[in-house]
Amino acid sequence: MDLSFSPEIETFRARVRHWFETEFPKDIIQKYKAGLPLTTAEVRQSEMALGSKGWLATAWPAEYGGPGWGIEEQYVFDEELERAGVPTVTPMGVVYVGPVIYTFGSEAQKARWLPGIRDGSVGWAQGYSEPGAGSDLASLQFSAKLENGTYTLNGHKIWTSAAQHADWIFLLARTSQEEKKQQGISFICCPIDAPGVTVKPIITIDGNHVLNEVFFEDVKVPEENRIGEAGMGWTYSQYLLGFERTSYARIGGKRAMLRHIREVASATPDGGGASLIEDAGFARRLTAAEMAVDGLEMTVFRILSALAQGGSPGDAASTVKILATSTHQQITELMVDAAGAFAQPHFSFWASQNDPGGSPGRDMATYFAGRAQSIYGGTNEIQRTIIARKVLNL
Ligand SMILES: Cc1cc2nc3c(=O)[nH]c(=O)nc-3n(C[C@H](O)[C@H](O)[C@H](O)COP(=O)(O)OP(=O)(O)OC[C@H]3O[C@@H](n4cnc5c(N)ncnc54)[C@H](O)[C@@H]3O)c2cc1C
Repeated sequence: MDLSFSPEIETFRARVRHWFETEFPKDIIQKYKAGLPLTTAEVRQSEMALGSKGWLATAWPAEYGGPGWGIEEQYVFDEELERAGVPTVTPMGVVYVGPVIYTFGSEAQKARWLPGIRDGSVGWAQGYSEPGAGSDLASLQFSAKLENGTYTLNGHKIWTSAAQHADWIFLLARTSQEEKKQQGISFICCPIDAPGVTVKPIITIDGNHVLNEVFFEDVKVPEENRIGEAGMGWTYSQYLLGFERTSYARIGGKRAMLRHIREVASATPDGGGASLIEDAGFARRLTAAEMAVDGLEMTVFRILSALAQGGSPGDAASTVKILATSTHQQITELMVDAAGAFAQPHFSFWASQNDPGGSPGRDMATYFAGRAQSIYGGTNEIQRTIIARKVLNL
């Protein structure tokens, strides 16, 4: 089987690489590579740089402003983006809500929201989870009451990634009480600076501020902020989750981490002696991780081909989610082992702030952040249940 790309795709790769090396803001890459948190202005700058080139909404159909790339161009582009050290695109707008808007939204909603998502000037957050509704998301209590064309929103969302950088939040809200709890949920968009919205940070074990709690107290939004039909939010949310779960693959980033580990493990220790790569057990684990990335890549290709034929990622996205996140954890465990005794004493928020070279302080933070991957987007236990029920029909 020949898995190499055609000369045309390799020319495309060279063009993308050249643009990242010469045109993309260098200070943003430097800061991101050093593991330092970006400000809201820097997040916008980074995404608008891609958007101005038409390279942000890379998977969107051409009729909504996508670049009209095939799956190979999209794949190579993602690889080059990660290779260059460009910050990961905040997925909540372009990967999650964008496809929901162009698939289920009205013409007015498409005209209102798609341009700002496509050019990177408007940030979005995802308001699904609540303190009592995570895996069992359909138990959500967040309420939206409609009166005279206006919804009044009340409730508490939690684990809301990047809400501190967002202009809008899309919400799953209960708009009616039905016998089946998946019914009666609607998909509603709200400006994050609307009166009555409060965003509070949650600092995670890696020392970073990515997560937030968002409180809503009698927040008013017009009925036209609801996407699609009332009570159909569950259907739209599941459609969105297919895109979310497929987006975790990040093959280029995984390959970059593996290269980094090989480099660190091949160095002669300060005191002399054998390098870690000469340890058969470590070398075997590293090779197993490299093979796992190859396997993941094949699975992603299969899903991308289905997408190219007009499908949605569907339940197969659960397979990618499990493979991608467990491989990421496998890799970050190797990273910490390669950093050896230096990993623990070097880990602190300030160490990663003051260590622009990256490792090992940053490796430890990457390891901690990676623990969350098997939780968000629906935990891996839940994905296994989806595979058992829907893919294997057990
Ligand atoms: C870093 C991070 C970012 C996130 N970003 C967002 C975001 O932007 N927006 C958003 O809405 N949410 C976000 N989340 C929330 C995430 O989707 C939830 O944490 C996740 O769905 C799990 O819900 P929970 O935390 O309530 O855990 P629970 O549902 O309470 O689960 C606890 C444990 O029990 C297991 N479990 C639960 N039910 C079952 C079952 N039926 N069978 C087997 N095992 C089960 C789970 O697998 C898990 O191990 C984020 C979470 C993290 C960690």
